[in-house]
Amino acid sequence: MNHGDSMTGLEELPIRDDLRGLSPYGAPQLDVPVRLNTNENSYPVPEAVVEAIGKAVAAELRDLNRYPDRDAVALRADLAGYLGHGLTVDGVWAANGSNEIQQQLLQAFGGPGRSALGFTPAYSMHPLLALGTGTRWVPARRDVDFGLTADEAVAQVREHRPDVVFLCSPNNPTGTALDPAVVAAVLDVAPGMVVVDEAYAEFARPGTVSALAVLPGHPRLVVTRTMSKAFGFAGGRLGYLAADPAVVAAVQLVRLPYHLSALTQAAARAALAHRDVLLGTVTAIMQQRDRIVTELRGRGLRVADSDANFVLYSVGGDQAEAWQAMLAHGVLVRDVGLPGWLRVTAGTPAETDAFLAAMDKTRLAGPPAPQPRPKGSAR
Ligand SMILES: *Cc1c(COP(=O)(O)O)cnc(C)c1O
Repeated sequence: MNHGDSMTGLEELPIRDDLRGLSPYGAPQLDVPVRLNTNENSYPVPEAVVEAIGKAVAAELRDLNRYPDRDAVALRADLAGYLGHGLTVDGVWAANGSNEIQQQLLQAFGGPGRSALGFTPAYSMHPLLALGTGTRWVPARRDVDFGLTADEAVAQVREHRPDVVFLCSPNNPTGTALDPAVVAAVLDVAPGMVVVDEAYAEFARPGTVSALAVLPGHPRLVVTRTMSKAFGFAGGRLGYLAADPAVVAAVQLVRLPYHLSALTQAAARAALAHRDVLLGTVTAIMQQRDRIVTELRGRGLRVADSDANFVLYSVGGDQAEAWQAMLAHGVLVRDVGLPGWLRVTAGTPAETDAFLAAMDKTRLAGPPAPQPRPKGSAR
């Protein structure tokens, strides 16, 4: 940018053929009063935790001339303690967000000549991480209601024999947790690794079973988690995995040395030490999530069951138009590219009020429910 008129176009560079013509991924970061588009935790970090993180980070500053603990042992021990299930430091690995964790998994278990499979619609970063690591992406299908049965999953894994299977539970963007029978069935037939992305596990409805329970005896199972959502620590960038210690040894072959800064490690440990306070918002967010589901169904819209901090709903028309109309009323939701559907994050009660008010002001959603019309082309 600072080269002014002499700026080189991307297309003039000898960039990889598979990256040519692409644009960087990311949800719009717009300055809008109500931002409900990236599933962040709407509650700011409580003052007591701000102070604790500040002290922990300050204590590291004098030693910033030294590299941090390359293996982040103390942090991993804390994360193992949080997860329970008999996990110890050897079975837990941490990185700058679960996106980096999944990238490391693909670097170790995917790569050129290998493939990764996911059941779409699912997390849009999985195919992009595959692209970046040179892993061939196989888009497998869910049924029309976004469900996935063990039989459908098994048939597609058998057909494609991927090196890595991504399962997302609760699934983004649909919100629904997977039946544990699907995870078990995929583990039985997958020829390679099975990664269960549990970014929203803390928001799941009572009775939802985590894949952490299945880890013993399944060395090819990896469960990824994050502090970005329930912990309200998206800006801190901390994701982690739980798996057999051999999997941790494998990702250590590809991780950059000192990938987790001393500041990140200290901040995350301080946040974890205050997990009772930080996770105190989860119940309130689940209440807003359930309120959004009930209110939208009451307006005659189709809504996917949610075990997460967001809700996928049918707009009864073109989702790009509905997205724009909501934005015009100061509410930013997410167009995930599913024709006819939008995704909204559950935040504070006031944010739900604003979202519902905007829904009622935008023509597409007011009662009675309009009939969806085929639009010809999905934008
Ligand atoms: C938000 C999200 C993540 C979190 O990514 P981080 O890199 O940890 O912030 C991971 N998986 C899914 C499905 C998500 O929606």
